[in-house]
Amino acid sequence: MLNNFLDKMLLITSIITLGSILFKGYLLKQNKYKKEILGLIGGSIGILFFSYPKLTNDNFLYILTLWIILSLTTLFGAFSSSLIAGLILLCFNLISSLSLNNLVITLLFIISSGITDILFLSRKYKWITLNSLWLIISLTYSKSLSIPIHSFVFTCILTSSYILFLLYIIRKNYTSYINLKIQATKDYLTGLNNKRQFTCMLKKSFSNLSTKNKLALIMLDIDHFKYINDNYGHPVGDEVLKEFTKLLKELCPSNNISRIGGEEFCILLHNYSLSKAYDFAEKIRLAIQDNSFEIDTQTIKITVSIGISVYPDTAEDMNSLIKTADEALYKAKKFGRNRINLPFKTYNIKEPAS
Ligand code: GH3
Ligand code: MG
Ligand code: MG
Repeated sequence: MLNNFLDKMLLITSIITLGSILFKGYLLKQNKYKKEILGLIGGSIGILFFSYPKLTNDNFLYILTLWIILSLTTLFGAFSSSLIAGLILLCFNLISSLSLNNLVITLLFIISSGITDILFLSRKYKWITLNSLWLIISLTYSKSLSIPIHSFVFTCILTSSYILFLLYIIRKNYTSYINLKIQATKDYLTGLNNKRQFTCMLKKSFSNLSTKNKLALIMLDIDHFKYINDNYGHPVGDEVLKEFTKLLKELCPSNNISRIGGEEFCILLHNYSLSKAYDFAEKIRLAIQDNSFEIDTQTIKITVSIGISVYPDTAEDMNSLIKTADEALYKAKKFGRNRINLPFKTYNIKEPAS
């Protein structure tokens, strides 16, 4: 029995570790059916256990598996998760000639999960309640199942707690990793790529560029943004920046957009010629000019000045792409704002009248 038990422990630890690597972050994401998916995964792992030879005839290992699977699904999901996992195990074991005692225990375990869920306890107290209820159920049936009492106390509780702890640590580390990654790459206000990420993406784009490829850089700066802050207040200014971001996202995939300064944004477009980038920038300029930002019952209108540069049309390398786009933006500001400008030095391309 010990060998069988160690086998199971090795299997469950490997499944959890491998699962958390393969599906990393998936269960952390907002998913409508997250709890149900967790129940399905739990039930499937349970079936894997029961598929082992002799296990269905082994009451102790049956209850231990039930204990582990249902505590994981209840504590990391909800009652719906443990209900699904429990019913899957129940159905599978009904087919594989489950004893009446085990059937009753499975149902009582599932009901206990439901009771624990209704109590809206913190995860720690859920754990205590769940283990206490299951211990009472198991002790009630231990005689008829001919399982020694200490097996339940030491093995079921300790093993399920060890696995829960393992999962908790993996999840906590992964959450910290994701949070750090977001903080390092995203702008806190708009959720767009920050300047560091923009530089990384630009370097990556240049390293992947072939001789035939083009890379367009559109640099935008909101006109007279200081006026918005001075007139409506900084919080309203923040809201305008958020709404402005939403508008940009409607026109272009969000991963292409970066916030590189307070009210300065960059859009990277792969394989856009100068004229195509210009047309796209004009679409953005008009969309912003025509939009009314409704913030706190106030209607705010803004405009943007835009500078464009395209590698290799108006820039020879990465640094000159930024420099020439920046110079074009400066020109757009200088020549009156709410307009688009291109770099002076272009190769075979006429500057469109703006
Ligand atoms: P210009 O047309 O020349 O670009 O004028 P401007 O007023 O937009 O430019 P300026 O550089 O003078 O001012 C930029 C303003 O943007 C000043 C700063 O307070 C504001 N700003 C920068 N970051 C933020 C932010 O995160 N939130 C808010 N509300 N304002 C910001
Ligand atoms: Mg500005
Ligand atoms: Mg600026």
